[in-house]
Amino acid sequence: MYESINYLPEGLLDVTTQNIHEILSKPTLIHLFGKRKEPLFVSVLLHGNEDSGFLAIQNILKYYNNKELPRALSVFIGNVQSSKENRRHLEHQEDFNRCWLEGNTPERIMAQSIIKEMRSKNPFASLDIHNTSGINPHYACLTKLDQRYFHLATLFSRTVIYYKQPEGTQTSAFSEICPSVTVECGRPSQPYSVEHAYNFIDACLHLSHFPEHPVPAHDMELYHTMATIRIPDEVSFSFHSDETDIRLRKDLDHLNFQVLSEATMIGYTQKNHPGLLLEAKDEQGNDVSEKYFRNNNGVLELNQEVMPSLLSVNEEIIRLDCLGYFMERYNH
Ligand SMILES: [Zn+2]
Repeated sequence: MYESINYLPEGLLDVTTQNIHEILSKPTLIHLFGKRKEPLFVSVLLHGNEDSGFLAIQNILKYYNNKELPRALSVFIGNVQSSKENRRHLEHQEDFNRCWLEGNTPERIMAQSIIKEMRSKNPFASLDIHNTSGINPHYACLTKLDQRYFHLATLFSRTVIYYKQPEGTQTSAFSEICPSVTVECGRPSQPYSVEHAYNFIDACLHLSHFPEHPVPAHDMELYHTMATIRIPDEVSFSFHSDETDIRLRKDLDHLNFQVLSEATMIGYTQKNHPGLLLEAKDEQGNDVSEKYFRNNNGVLELNQEVMPSLLSVNEEIIRLDCLGYFMERYNH
């Protein structure tokens, strides 16, 4: 299901994300030596359409070509099959960032094996690098409230999200082993996204240890995910047509990380669906749709003040994953 090697395959540093499959026939874990022995673990392309992490790793390895890395580096290059088609994952595959759980699917068996392999190397820290499909600031996510994890996250951004859902992410699995974060580098195919990921990986490679002192409160804005927003499978939606059950507002992703007041309009519903709402589930999986939404004569509105993240206007991503998340400030 995946390959583990300790050399850099020829041509990997010059290939495009769509052509990695010509060099790596399957997901590949590459271990490289460095001055400090405990490796930095970096996963890229867990979502095949999110290229910034891979492009940043190419640049890092080009820079350190013929130079000793400041720390050992283990890079997992994930979904090389879906990156060929520039897609998050293929129909027959489980999402590569929801499969880090016990189980018998090929993706879960792969993930468990990678965890075992990395655990034996006593990793220093774990980074999982992603892009977002909508407009979002660059931010870090973590699943553990711990000063070392806060230090790691704030090397990337002062905006940090603490979450419990979704389950099965690489970060939640590696949080049991070492300080771990996911970083969201804005939209794919943007030079600044690659540069920011590069600077973050390089800073982590140079870090000898985590500071003892707590992260000062003014250095981090910590948010907590309160609800996951989905559109039920049987409900049709679009951003442009009045023919579907729900028509969402076109600029939905412009609302990310803004405080939205009660009664903010999210979209419109058809007259033959009175009371139709979006689905909201809290971190325990309880239905909280009516807490967050109301239907005001066909206008879908917020029922309370919220701050959203990851709201997307990409119809495929919304169906494959979710519409987005609602958050609130977390006092740390
Ligand atoms: Zn992703």
